[in-house]
Amino acid sequence: MTTPIQSRVLDTAVNMLEQYTLCDRCLGRQFAWLSTNTSNSERGRSLKLVLSMMADDELKSENPDHGKKIIGLLAGHGMFKPAQTIAEKNSIEYGKSVDCHLCSTDGQSIFDKIEDVTKKAGELVKDVEFDHFLVGTVSFPLLDDRQDDLRAKYSLLHAEALKSDFSRELGKHLHEILKKEVEFERPHLVFLYDMVNDIVRLQINPVFIYGRYQKLVRGIPQSRWDCKDCKGKGCEECKGTGRRYPDSISEYVGDVAQRLLRGSRFKFHAAGREDIDVLMLGKGRPFVVEVSEPRIRTPDLVSLTKRINKESKKRIRVENLEMTNREHSQKIKEDASTNIKEYLAVIQTDGPVQKTELRRVEGEFSGIEIEQRTPTRVSHRRADLIRKKQIHEIRLKMLKNDSIEAFFKVQGGTYVKELISGDDGRTNPSIASKLGLVCVCKKLDVTAVYSNSS
Ligand SMILES: [Zn+2]
Ligand SMILES: [Zn+2]
Repeated sequence: MTTPIQSRVLDTAVNMLEQYTLCDRCLGRQFAWLSTNTSNSERGRSLKLVLSMMADDELKSENPDHGKKIIGLLAGHGMFKPAQTIAEKNSIEYGKSVDCHLCSTDGQSIFDKIEDVTKKAGELVKDVEFDHFLVGTVSFPLLDDRQDDLRAKYSLLHAEALKSDFSRELGKHLHEILKKEVEFERPHLVFLYDMVNDIVRLQINPVFIYGRYQKLVRGIPQSRWDCKDCKGKGCEECKGTGRRYPDSISEYVGDVAQRLLRGSRFKFHAAGREDIDVLMLGKGRPFVVEVSEPRIRTPDLVSLTKRINKESKKRIRVENLEMTNREHSQKIKEDASTNIKEYLAVIQTDGPVQKTELRRVEGEFSGIEIEQRTPTRVSHRRADLIRKKQIHEIRLKMLKNDSIEAFFKVQGGTYVKELISGDDGRTNPSIASKLGLVCVCKKLDVTAVYSNSS
């Protein structure tokens, strides 16, 4: 014969029922991590059934007192129908309970609201495109406290929180009516049920669209630039526009994307930025536009491309749009200071230049590292640091005797205008210091942005 069963699980169940009214689900939830492929209701019901069978057996023996007590508990605090039948047959008195200690407030179990909550949640997504979702619940503090107390009092090691039980149950119901899957890693939507206020909130997660932009006209900042006098409100200085510049690259891309995806906002992430007076040519600069709360997740990217290009009136141009993710957008930004960029510049000098001098300077810059202290012109928004930047290649061509065309292949984040002028010694060496002439950048274009992450 095997060892007689002495069950800690059954003892704990009886001890809890002596003190508290517990529905099947809440009793079962205290043992949620024991035995799989079943439900908390099934666990609780099984415990109550086993206990009432054992008690019924005792009732039929010579010493029925213990059995009577257990049937009374199950019929009363346990609200268990089979035990109530036994109690009535055997004239066992019990107090009628209706409100479960762990899931009821105002005379109603929170689980009885599930149909209603499911319906509310369903209403919220009538015109939202999504493939999968996740459910979260904000519980009643009172019910959480009761669960915590119970856990401590009975040393419950296998209990599950009310909110995770509720979320899972709601998830099952939503899966039924929405015909969409529950997804834990990257859900398109999150339904958040607030028990206290009985409200379902919908969180629509953003979408990310990758592409490259060219800037074909000078004078466009990458992001919206507010008027410094009125900070965007509109004043005389900005003729009521609230802006220092009428347009921006991020708005040309983001406004159209936001409209097409029926989102609420957008963010523009790019692999660095060019100055306002600098063109972005070649294959363009990598960017990711993030659209918040999109009601459409699978836009027609060809038509999005066309609309951006059309609405910008050829001031910018985007191409190769594709759907991507948050990690990619972060990587693009991180890589911006290490990737390689190419520029074409026109340099004005204050004196005549010799061809042989240009060859010498090209050689001296080949594969070296320069030091750049943050230029004065950007020091209001960037920390004053000395950065080391890799110069891969510089090629210089004489245009006139005081004018040079220069090609630069340098590390991302190099200040090219300062590499030309020397910025009063803050950049070292510079074209100016090597030529021994005052050098000014008259025109600058970015011709290539190489990216490791696109
Ligand atoms: Zn309950
Ligand atoms: Zn203004």
